[in-house]
Amino acid sequence: MSQIADEIKNQIKKRRTFAIISHPDAGKTTLTEKFLLYGGAINLAGSVKGKATARHAVSDWMEIEKERGISVTSSVLQFNYGGYCINILDTPGHQDFSEDTYRTLMAADSAVMVIDASKGVEAQTRKLFKVCTMRHIPIFTFINKMDREAMDTFELLDDIENELGIATCPVNWPIGSGKEFRGVYDRNTKMVELFSDTHKGTTQGEVMKIAIDDPKLKEWVTDTQLSQLKEEIELQDGAGAEFSQELVSKGELSPVFFGSALTNFGVETFLLHFLGMTTSPLPRTSDQGAVDPMEEKDFSAFVFKIQANMNKAHRDRIAFMRICSGEFEAGMDVYHIQGGKKVRLSQPQQMMASERKMIDKAYGGDIIGVFDPGIFSIGDTLTTSAKRFAYEGIPTFAPEHFARVRQVDTMKRKQFIKGINQIAQEGAIQIFQEFNTGMEEIIVGVVGVLQFDVLKYRLENEYNVDIRLDNLPYEYIRWIENTDIDLDKLTGTSDMKKVKDLKGRPLLLFVNDWSIRMTTERNEGLKLSEFGR
Ligand code: GDP
Repeated sequence: MSQIADEIKNQIKKRRTFAIISHPDAGKTTLTEKFLLYGGAINLAGSVKGKATARHAVSDWMEIEKERGISVTSSVLQFNYGGYCINILDTPGHQDFSEDTYRTLMAADSAVMVIDASKGVEAQTRKLFKVCTMRHIPIFTFINKMDREAMDTFELLDDIENELGIATCPVNWPIGSGKEFRGVYDRNTKMVELFSDTHKGTTQGEVMKIAIDDPKLKEWVTDTQLSQLKEEIELQDGAGAEFSQELVSKGELSPVFFGSALTNFGVETFLLHFLGMTTSPLPRTSDQGAVDPMEEKDFSAFVFKIQANMNKAHRDRIAFMRICSGEFEAGMDVYHIQGGKKVRLSQPQQMMASERKMIDKAYGGDIIGVFDPGIFSIGDTLTTSAKRFAYEGIPTFAPEHFARVRQVDTMKRKQFIKGINQIAQEGAIQIFQEFNTGMEEIIVGVVGVLQFDVLKYRLENEYNVDIRLDNLPYEYIRWIENTDIDLDKLTGTSDMKKVKDLKGRPLLLFVNDWSIRMTTERNEGLKLSEFGR
């Protein structure tokens, strides 16, 4: 049976690979910085990559991509803390938001959701959350910015439950907010952790803890605050969901923590609990059943992101893969399932805090980027196992912006078609065609509008084709799951559009939610999905 070496097993067991999701400005970067601080990966918070570049305008971003040859917006940060080896997957926000953001979640074993205490659940969190629930991975909530005026605690919890449809279980409970913020009460230990904003960028200084029934607590917490806390806790104990590790593991219950990333309050508490409750790399589904990293001794991984080189002198790309089992060694030969041949994985790299560095070894749970001569596609499997299994593919996510695309110079039809198809194959955009007509009209769909600019830029620079993009009013796309449906007979609303994707699968484009509902009502048995499998 299994001859998996203890060393490999131990390495995998201590891996914790998670993504941080949030709406822009909720504090994802700040929280990540503080995590790194505890890992000793950086001396002073504030040097995490990405922040400065994430704020760059599109043109600057392109320049940066060109200069460095690879993406500065995508990354994985690895550091060690408390005996764990932690991989944080970055999910870009703002204008960088793209399909890659979703795909990144496919590589994570759990997610940390950062919520701004004054705002509750926001749009981007909602979108990313959907992908997490689709995968049933554990989701942890960090309610941030308690040093600012916050929404009522019950309201915040209700918001998460109603908006996202997940039960919550607060591990600690805030005492006041903004100027009145005094700390958090740990429901387990019944201790109050007192807030102090003097730690900021440091790990020094113990957090003061004091029992809830200690008379000295009154030196920090007013009588009103204390009685409010007791009242709230009583209410929560009576009506709230009880903690259950099983439900947390299934992604049905989210442990909630309160804190203030900026002042470094509640961060270590969160990290300690989180690392204990989250999971080491779990089995992943393949066409030959689940592959368990504790049983499969051979190396296996799947590609979840491909970063094209923007420099036309170097058409090479970086393929990011999630290792699912075994040990990776630089320069090793692996079998590329979809390509049907052996390939050598060269120039493996990993992000360590703010630097990209070459690596020699990596293990199940880790993310590596390797040189791709243009042979890999999103979802591909690589393995040294003789069993040659293929991991379950990565779904296609629903684009939300659509445009009709035309080449300016009609003589360049061939380059145009070639370019746009290649860029679509890399997963940088999705392309669609009118259902019953030929290749005449090409519709491009993207998750984030920056992808339009990338398309235009790349077609101009790599294929020498100028294009014109005309925005279309569609905002919703649905894959048709029924295999037996006659698309010609399908009746929708007048503003609905029938298209097909690269694989010839039928899809519907809608302008609004209402049209989707009408169409479902008008066609009995019609099954629509937000994800293309
Ligand atoms: P991101 O867009 O989610 O990565 O958010 P950032 O980490 O960049 O934070 C956005 C802004 O909120 C920055 O100005 C931070 O300094 C600020 N911020 C982050 N965490 C806190 C916090 O706990 N309290 C306060 N008052 N501000 C915070």
